[in-house]
Amino acid sequence: MRLVLLGPPGAGKGTQARMLRDLAGIPQISSGDLLRAAVHERSRLGVEAAKYMDRGELVPDDLVLNLIDERLGASDAKKGFILDGFPRSVAQAEALTAMLLKRSGKGIDLVIALSVPDEEIVRRVSGRRTCTQCGAMYNLVSEPPQRVGVCDKCGGELYQREDDSEATVRNRLNVYNATTRPLLEYYGARKLLAQIDGMGRPGEVDSRIIAALDGLLSKSERAKASRGRDN
Ligand code: ADP
Ligand code: ZN
Repeated sequence: MRLVLLGPPGAGKGTQARMLRDLAGIPQISSGDLLRAAVHERSRLGVEAAKYMDRGELVPDDLVLNLIDERLGASDAKKGFILDGFPRSVAQAEALTAMLLKRSGKGIDLVIALSVPDEEIVRRVSGRRTCTQCGAMYNLVSEPPQRVGVCDKCGGELYQREDDSEATVRNRLNVYNATTRPLLEYYGARKLLAQIDGMGRPGEVDSRIIAALDGLLSKSERAKASRGRDN
């Protein structure tokens, strides 16, 4: 299964990508995570990328395409993958098609686009907190930790991503609307698009996505998905 998750910042792409990863046993490939790892390592690419990320602007294609192409070449991506945060423009979508054709002769199976209203995005993203130790995510509004600033799972310290401040979130939304939103039409025209309402509890969004995946899941994966819903 080769999936793309599309949607504005804070739409829940990361949460849903991890749900699908656990369900189908294929890797979640997040361009944002790959870029943040490069920034953290202070590689030449990371230092360059950070300038754009801090402002909420898109990192230039040559940098992003290199990272993604390398990641898609890893052995765990052979049986499928969930792309989260990539592609983000029509140019990136075309580059992705070319990369996949070269590697396997097969394109994307489905693009899942999560829709969430702008004001809800600003509210969600500015409340987002991540654990410095284990990466668990919280939301001060919808999923607060039990103790302020402390991870429930491991006791690690929680932090706010630098680009999650309200001003930067608004800029990321503008970039999304101008540059990424046209992908809805692009993939719609190619009959690859499933538009999903991203509002509601995470479990409700899960069910909508699983319904949209329908024929792409094996019988055992469908059974696993419905067991997950009953719990
Ligand atoms: P979100 O989806 O919440 O905006 P991401 O972690 O996907 O967060 O992205 C964070 C930042 O990383 C973006 O604002 C952008 O600067 C950069 N980035 C991530 N993916 C891409 C991409 N495909 N192309 C260009 N820049 C990207
Ligand atoms: Zn933790």
